[in-house]
Amino acid sequence: MHTLGTELNPLRIAIVGSGPSGFYAAEELLKSSMAVSVDMIDRLPSPFGLVRSGVAPDHPKLKMPIVVFDKVAQMPGFSFHGNVTVGQDISVEALQKTHHAVIFTCGAQTDRKLGVPGEALAGSHTATEFVGWYNGHPDYRHLNFDLSQEVAVIIGQGNVAADVARALSKSVDELRTTDMAEHAIEALAKSRVREIHIIGRRGPAQAKFTNKELKELGELTGCSAEINSGGIVLNDESLVEIESKTNFIAAKNVEIMRSWTQNAATNGNKRIVFHFQQSPVKLVGTDRVQQIILEKNNLKGPAFDQQAYGTDEQEILNCGLVFRSIGYRGVPIPGVPFDEKKGTFPNSAGRINNARGLYTAGWIKRGPSGIIGTNRADALETVATLLGDLESLERDPKPGFSAHFSTLENSKVKVVSYQGWQRIDAEERRRGELKGKPREKITDIAEMLSIAS
Ligand SMILES: Cc1cc2nc3c(=O)[nH]c(=O)nc-3n(C[C@H](O)[C@H](O)[C@H](O)COP(=O)(O)OP(=O)(O)OC[C@H]3O[C@@H](n4cnc5c(N)ncnc54)[C@H](O)[C@@H]3O)c2cc1C
Repeated sequence: MHTLGTELNPLRIAIVGSGPSGFYAAEELLKSSMAVSVDMIDRLPSPFGLVRSGVAPDHPKLKMPIVVFDKVAQMPGFSFHGNVTVGQDISVEALQKTHHAVIFTCGAQTDRKLGVPGEALAGSHTATEFVGWYNGHPDYRHLNFDLSQEVAVIIGQGNVAADVARALSKSVDELRTTDMAEHAIEALAKSRVREIHIIGRRGPAQAKFTNKELKELGELTGCSAEINSGGIVLNDESLVEIESKTNFIAAKNVEIMRSWTQNAATNGNKRIVFHFQQSPVKLVGTDRVQQIILEKNNLKGPAFDQQAYGTDEQEILNCGLVFRSIGYRGVPIPGVPFDEKKGTFPNSAGRINNARGLYTAGWIKRGPSGIIGTNRADALETVATLLGDLESLERDPKPGFSAHFSTLENSKVKVVSYQGWQRIDAEERRRGELKGKPREKITDIAEMLSIAS
């Protein structure tokens, strides 16, 4: 039999998911000295995961990794197969028959729940829904957000909450030149949202914003950033935290917020109000959300491990929209072990536990943390583990993804190649140019498929 990793028996790897972790893993494999063939599969006709459908439209520079990913896609041995959902259109078992190993880089596809009464009322949404809607993700394009409401509440204090706050507070003229989906620009043009409350269960020193994103909220045209009447209060443990050299982001965040309280001049007619040490205990309304009940928290525990505990002291905030932005979770795929508690695929350095030939990288491996670049080191670790396991993988030649084409065609699944995606990309850019935008995203799968072919 021919040696694995040679021209006659290339190492065939399927990568499930075309976000950053998938592309970083593909690049590392294709750079190896062996003959490798990578089949990257995504459930959407478009690649790039959250870089396309998560990263905020008004932060175009943060989408630059796409340039690198596009180069990876041109490397010999790389193939893209879009519009194929693993676990639905094709089973994990079927992929294992055609590949020596499968790497799951399918991200964290759903939100964590608040677990409070009223969470499902109309007007209460997840950040995933809102972000997916304004970014033209096909799953969320039909959603409606009642932007005739004047007061919106965002639960959670991380960068996604900051993205949602900017989308709600920026003027539509500022958004028109971004790649925000046209349906969202049209709806936001009529928005009456004036007040945006951002709620955190712990204090200002524990907020998860990065400095640049937080500072930006204080520099918006026509919108002021302020701290609610509780102000910025730091207990002794929080003071220890911000004085630590390793925690300079939190220290800078506190400094940024203090500068707002000192220059409390109102900037325009919109307001972003930060609330600390408060947790939602109930969303109230008859047909739709009208109020949120917040409970004041005390912080307990040592510095860097302070937890929020409710005090029974409650405050009522009238509001017409609630966005929950408290983190993401992975979803299971049949045939792959799943950790229900963490919402990840349980693994050791990327090797999925008790599953020969199955590996994982990115958010579905470690949970939803870090920036795009964090996924590079993460994917490299997984590829190193996989290459170190070669001796234990099946060594027979494998046919690769093309062995599934006829089955997929029989089940009416239209597979989109990278060339197909490039046709969609060119059309999006052409439509965008007509409107002075980088691109006008095509959000309808049927239309994408027709352009791709
Ligand atoms: C709203 C938001 C904004 C963000 N903004 C920034 C930012 O500005 N800067 C920054 O550095 N980071 C940002 N991040 C973080 C960054 O996007 C993530 O670190 C990164 O995308 C995670 O990469 P991933 O490859 O693990 O997952 P993803 O990017 O989520 O990619 C997963 C891919 O898997 C596909 N998939 C899922 N299930 C299946 C299946 N069953 N079959 C086939 N395909 C499947 C999905 O369609 C998707 O393309 C943001 C995250 C969010 C949620």
